[in-house]
Amino acid sequence: MNFFSQYSVLNSCLNKNKTIGLVPTMGALHEGHISLIERATIENEQVIVTIFVNPTQFENSEEVKSYPQNLNLDIQMIKKASPKSMIYAPKSNDLYDSKMKTYRYEFGILEKIMEGKFRNGHFQGVATIVEKLLNNFSPTKAYFGEKDFQQLLIIKSLVNQKKISTSIVGCSTYRDSQGLALSSRNKLLNTKELKNAIFLIEQLKLAKSLWKKENSLRITKIIEENFLNNIWLKLDYFDIRFENNLLKAKEKSDQKTRAFIAARIGKTRLIDNLLLNEY
Ligand code: AMP
Repeated sequence: MNFFSQYSVLNSCLNKNKTIGLVPTMGALHEGHISLIERATIENEQVIVTIFVNPTQFENSEEVKSYPQNLNLDIQMIKKASPKSMIYAPKSNDLYDSKMKTYRYEFGILEKIMEGKFRNGHFQGVATIVEKLLNNFSPTKAYFGEKDFQQLLIIKSLVNQKKISTSIVGCSTYRDSQGLALSSRNKLLNTKELKNAIFLIEQLKLAKSLWKKENSLRITKIIEENFLNNIWLKLDYFDIRFENNLLKAKEKSDQKTRAFIAARIGKTRLIDNLLLNEY
């Protein structure tokens, strides 16, 4: 059985002379997670998939409790996609002491905008758990989705600052046939909400088509207005930013630029982003 709840036990089973790919997740797995696991399986001799709903990246315990969980199904999905991978699903006390403290990091603008602004302390919690996982397993590569693009940049900054030797691999966003980015949180949506969640990618695609001739101020106005006319979704933010530093982009240029969006549908908050440059 490749299932572990203690990192020390898992560590003793690892061959340190072989490459290790790490895929950190919070479980409630979907095809998006599986695409990361499949890539890690192709690129590494050993793969660790972690399943841990990290309390320090949530603002309150209610949010943690309502996060979807289904460990048995997750295990089945991982075994099907990557039979030899090792699953690490710990309790909090394997990673935190009883105070559940985050470390302190300085990420500058990266944590002051968008998700950092709307979710107090979120990235301090994310960086803390990722640093613990990277230090515990010393993986060759660790895989993160572009779906959480700001998180991906935070982790790249963490690894740089702490001089961690793991390569951080960004993986493209996996979408359903209508373009909706797969997310564990989609499982919290009812049928009507799920149908309306498509609005996020529709607005991002609209932004992409407008970016050819309009500036970001004008596009933001259009999209904010479209949200005001949609009774299902409440917009938290829509931003157009450069991919490498997340500074605001005013108009089309040669630099890679992304549109970022976060909106609430009922009690559920969804995020997505899209590259605006044409290739
Ligand atoms: P989570 O379980 O939501 O923390 O996600 C675990 C990892 O899977 C993160 O690196 C996410 O960015 C990534 N991920 C989540 N959804 C998707 C998706 N639709 N496509 C690609 N990667 C994803």
